[in-house]
Amino acid sequence: MTSIADKLKQIKSDIRDAEYCAQRRSGSVQLLAVSKTKPSTDIIQAYQAGQRHFAESYLQEALIKQQELASYQMTWHFIGPIQSNKTRQIANHFSWVHSVDRLKIAKRLSEQRCKDLPPLKLCIQVNISAEESKSGVRLEALAEFIEQVSILPNICLRGVMAIPQQVSDYEQQRLPYQQLHQYMTALDNAKIDTFSFGMTRDLKAAIVEGATFVRVGTALFGVRT
Ligand SMILES: *Cc1c(COP(=O)(O)O)cnc(C)c1O
Repeated sequence: MTSIADKLKQIKSDIRDAEYCAQRRSGSVQLLAVSKTKPSTDIIQAYQAGQRHFAESYLQEALIKQQELASYQMTWHFIGPIQSNKTRQIANHFSWVHSVDRLKIAKRLSEQRCKDLPPLKLCIQVNISAEESKSGVRLEALAEFIEQVSILPNICLRGVMAIPQQVSDYEQQRLPYQQLHQYMTALDNAKIDTFSFGMTRDLKAAIVEGATFVRVGTALFGVRT
């Protein structure tokens, strides 16, 4: 069995290869280790191999692990669906939130983020696959949504996150990311520097289309049961 440390090394090497292939600066893509459903012992193995950014999707599970791992210097990202009654804890137990797609949620995160903490770094989840999926702001509504979120205090809007429909064809995988990246480039908002694009199965396509964070679970920690 391959160790988490070996898998981490392999993923980092895949990221460097994709950066090179896309003529992007080495190190311009950061790895976000998606540890949902996996035990703290797995997270520690990744940490000991040098990983610092971890992402969780389920609040209660995340809070338990954060407590178990309180002595480690980790940066926590929230990437799951957000219910209004969870915003206070999400606002104060994470450095980043990638999955904001309703203004009401963004406002609550801003209001509830403790003033002693640095502003909460935030990505807007965008629905770019034009499917009936409920999650994500539609492209038509994105410019206005960005303006509304930009003015909230205690929040630092950094970019966008997308989870396109699963397809296996590489060119097909690139299209939605390309579309969103072009849209954001056209907006020309100087504060936007983050593209949370790509998971285990479409890592390369996402990096070629401008990802700055790739969110990898399965390739690092194994399949989730
Ligand atoms: C679970 C999850 C991932 C990781 O997916 P893998 O296919 O296991 O790499 C990435 N992003 C989000 C939003 C997730 O929920």
